[in-house]
Amino acid sequence: MTFDFIRTDVKEQKIKSRYRQLVCNNTTNQGKEIVIKGKSYLNFSSNDYLGLNNHSEINKALQEGADKFGTCASSSSLVTGYHYAHQALEDDICQWLNKPKCLLFSSGFSANLAIFHALGKSKQSHFYLDKLSHASMIDGAYQSNAKVRRFNHNDIEQLTTLLSSATTIPDKLIASEGVFSMDGCQAKVKALAQVAKDQEAWLYLDDAHSIGVIGDKGEGSNSFADIDITMATLGKAIGTSGAFLTCNEDLHEYLVNFSRHYIYSTAISPAIAWATKKSIELIQKEHWRREKISELSELFTVLLSPDVELVTTQSSIHAIIIGDEKKALLISDKLKKQGVWLTAIRPPTVAVNSSRLRVTICASHNTQDIRYLAESINKAIA
Ligand SMILES: *Cc1c(COP(=O)(O)O)cnc(C)c1O
Repeated sequence: MTFDFIRTDVKEQKIKSRYRQLVCNNTTNQGKEIVIKGKSYLNFSSNDYLGLNNHSEINKALQEGADKFGTCASSSSLVTGYHYAHQALEDDICQWLNKPKCLLFSSGFSANLAIFHALGKSKQSHFYLDKLSHASMIDGAYQSNAKVRRFNHNDIEQLTTLLSSATTIPDKLIASEGVFSMDGCQAKVKALAQVAKDQEAWLYLDDAHSIGVIGDKGEGSNSFADIDITMATLGKAIGTSGAFLTCNEDLHEYLVNFSRHYIYSTAISPAIAWATKKSIELIQKEHWRREKISELSELFTVLLSPDVELVTTQSSIHAIIIGDEKKALLISDKLKKQGVWLTAIRPPTVAVNSSRLRVTICASHNTQDIRYLAESINKAIA
């Protein structure tokens, strides 16, 4: 039969407890609760870390943006799709992160493909990626012409050794995530920046989970060091949709001229760009959102039973390592019965035997929610 693998692969996925399916989220007033099949749950799987999704001022800005600029850019940025809303948003981001240039993309996934594709023009380029880097970074790196090396998670020593033996290579890029998506721990940003400087490499950080949450004004990894290139998605803490990349003027110019992912793609909705401007304004001034995440995270850590294997972090993400896929699914189901929504994360998203519950604590939660969460987890795992 034609494309036989389609059926066999899905069947195998089911046997391995890795089967995935779409679940329709029927929540009308998005916040800390979600409604699935008519039942309401406390949501601890959302990336809306700062609780900004559905914020009245951002919604108002979205409406205003739609009225002023339209819902659609109607073409790629290089044709006529680059509106005032995009330019104004880029300017705000440059100021926020203290960077010369910013470029908007329709998603973090495409921004990652774009940057690795652009910098990996030839075999002259060498990429050094942290082993836990996001799928879109790995895909971007391996689809490019560059030579790709992976270093052990946060292993600065190994990275230094790899780079020291490549002194004749002209174009080197170190790539990592500011906060790692599946266990919430942070990259050693200062050390990475130092290695990059010493070895004449550039540093690229994917700040999808750092932006908004890390730094006094939520500016992410750039609060620790001056990072050559930063990417962050708008669809997590920022609460809208799309992504941005900050870099120097030369790289900006190069991407505008050569990045296929940028050139041949419709610019993000100008209404969304306008709403994002408002969100970033709130993020910078509303420190209480970051403080609340820290307080609630601390409470959560204290309340969990010592039997629970928790990865301790400074971010919104708190991973509870279960190991076996089936067990992780079972615990996730038990929690659902208690009204707690926590998706089990399984391979290939994480390594084999490290299936986990990924808890995200958001500024929209309160102490009562956290108490209930910890109690439910303690019971489900015991
Ligand atoms: C979510 C995510 C992306 C992809 O961003 P989208 O805007 O959702 O496409 C890229 N990198 C990391 C680390 C992410 O967590």
